[in-house]
Amino acid sequence: MASAIATVETPVAIKATRLLINNRWVNSESGRTFATTNPATGEEIAQVAEADSADVDKAVRAARAAFDARSPWRKMPAADRGRMLGRLADLIEQHADELALLESLDNGKPYQVAKAADLPLTIACYRYYAGWADKVQGKTIPIAGDYFCYTRHEPVGVVGQIIPWNFPLLMQAWKLGPALATGNTVVMKPAEQTPLSALRVGELIVEAGFPEGVVNLLPGFGPTAGAAIANHMDVDKVAFTGSTEVGHLIMEASAHSNLKRVTLELGGKSPNIVFADADMDQAIEGSHFALFFNQGQCCCAGSRLFVEDKCYDEFVEKSVARAKARKVGDPFDPSTEQGPQVDQAQFDKVLGYIDSGKREGATLLCGGGRWGDRGYFVEPTVFADVQDNMKIAEEEIFGPVMSIIRFKDMAEVVERANRTIYGLAAAVWTRDIGKAHAIANSVRAGTVWVNCYDVFDAAAPFGGFKQSGIGRELGEYGLQQYTEVKTVTVKL
Ligand code: NAP
Ligand code: MG
Repeated sequence: MASAIATVETPVAIKATRLLINNRWVNSESGRTFATTNPATGEEIAQVAEADSADVDKAVRAARAAFDARSPWRKMPAADRGRMLGRLADLIEQHADELALLESLDNGKPYQVAKAADLPLTIACYRYYAGWADKVQGKTIPIAGDYFCYTRHEPVGVVGQIIPWNFPLLMQAWKLGPALATGNTVVMKPAEQTPLSALRVGELIVEAGFPEGVVNLLPGFGPTAGAAIANHMDVDKVAFTGSTEVGHLIMEASAHSNLKRVTLELGGKSPNIVFADADMDQAIEGSHFALFFNQGQCCCAGSRLFVEDKCYDEFVEKSVARAKARKVGDPFDPSTEQGPQVDQAQFDKVLGYIDSGKREGATLLCGGGRWGDRGYFVEPTVFADVQDNMKIAEEEIFGPVMSIIRFKDMAEVVERANRTIYGLAAAVWTRDIGKAHAIANSVRAGTVWVNCYDVFDAAAPFGGFKQSGIGRELGEYGLQQYTEVKTVTVKL
């Protein structure tokens, strides 16, 4: 187990801060460490071992050995893999308070939200995939001639997984759940901003009984450790969640190395469409949640808020009142709705977008600046009169900045909603079932919510059209990304 080097008083003990390779906690080959900070104060929480390419090599060797046909992991009955995943879910549940505290401390999200959303979704994801472990199977196929033909769904092999900082525990679960259920081995890099909860889960993975080398965790930086995973000749697949920009780099690395399989869950600029016939209070509260949830740091945030002409003024007025009432502050205060942005870079980026909104002529109706005098808090911000070609309407802000855009009719809003490089999610608010389905069918996005937003379930697939990604996570569809299909033909 790693020794903690906590530098400030924390509400939770920091236990795991080193690399997990072969079920052992080790320092990096270089001996280097980096600081992870508390975004509510800007202070260092702990030093964490910094993985680089030498550590990636070591971890890939461990994962390859664990994938060997004679290894305990490969020989293990599928049902036992499922039981192990179930045990991990139980352990996470037993440590839910501790993990929610860690998540809140390292990421800045309100503790109550981590406890009510991140933890239950994480636990449910591991349980869901635990159930799949012994239900992944091929087909028998009636081919011509005197042959017996069947398919096997085999694990892809050594899987590299690179995850972001906005939902650290949940993104770890979305990646590990299907990879382990199908019998792969993993080399995972958590985000540099939020390594602590992923490493604590590493301890629980060992406790749950996963054999050595099956899960290896390498905190470190993207351009070094992350790139080493993406370029590695002995990694069979890489699964990435993060920015579209880095998604392009991951594809390039695959093309230039070994054509490893690539799945990507990237950015978005999701249209959230409100018709005048909607239940207005529900649409206002739902649209507030769609944008401000998780400090606006959601890939699927409803960040292009199209509101029909006929209800525009009422909608804007009430949305501004709701944003002004949003409670910003200490993530550990139970009444807090919004904590800080994850780090200085994201804070600066969000304030930069707010400036650009002002410069390009959008009407700033509330917020627009820093909240408080320390940490990375941004005031809940609402812009009205936003035009489609403004930067705040085209680019992913990833912060608490609502952009309200006016529209007149269905055909126009569909065309404008689709005029984007992204296609992750969309939503529509209306009491007219015809309109709801027309939008659901015509918006080019991987998920469409009708009269709701951010409804996630481990069984429902999630992923992007266009530059929002490749492949799907969650559900049965998520499993397919972690198996290779083998066709076996036998002469009878
Ligand atoms: P990012 O750079 O794409 O980070 C995501 C993950 O990729 C992190 O683990 C990161 O490592 C790693 N990474 C970075 N460069 C890499 C490279 N060259 N090769 C391999 N891995 C690499 O995202 P970010 O810089 O944290 O945030 C920037 C923007 O991305 C945000 O403002 C937001 O628009 C978007 N974003 C989207 C999501 C999402 O859920 N789709 C999540 C986070 C961010 P490091 O930890 O060292 O950065
Ligand atoms: Mg980064």
